[in-house]
Amino acid sequence: MEALIVVDMQKDFLEPEGKLYGGERVRSVIPKVREAINFSRDFMPIICTQDWHRKDDEEFSLWPPHCIEGSPGAEIVEEIGVKEEDIFVKKRRYSAFFSTDLDLILREKNIRKLWICGVLTNICVLHTIADARSLNYEVGLLKDCTEALNDYDYKYAVHHITNVLGAEVITLETFFSLREEDVG
Ligand SMILES: [Zn+2]
Repeated sequence: MEALIVVDMQKDFLEPEGKLYGGERVRSVIPKVREAINFSRDFMPIICTQDWHRKDDEEFSLWPPHCIEGSPGAEIVEEIGVKEEDIFVKKRRYSAFFSTDLDLILREKNIRKLWICGVLTNICVLHTIADARSLNYEVGLLKDCTEALNDYDYKYAVHHITNVLGAEVITLETFFSLREEDVG
């Protein structure tokens, strides 16, 4: 079994008035992530992670306060079209596995392969993939459905995810065609 993991597609990162807005570059992944979700929904569960911080979270010694639990900025952007029946995992750290029940959710559903999209490539995506690999999940990164704040961060992360973490790195187009082969 497989799942699509949609990392932190939240208003504070993706909307111009967000607390930690990543700019047009980061915002540009929204249509692709939407496509990935729409396509995958027929084949696998959609699992959305949400950065979800306490007001006094330790992380705010590194970053300005963002994604405070229950705040409008912590909501997932409407454009990607998540549904109530999708699975939501709230997290306080970069990795969606750290102190969450994501591993339990995946094991209950017999999911061994994770397709990952979302933001930011070099922070929450990278750390989530690192933990997924430590837990022996197979991982595929949809490389045009993720973004970082700049070219260096994006390229470094993709290199690390490929060569150090051993994930498969493919485009959304290839992801679509893999599925067509399966169906055919
Ligand atoms: Zn955070």
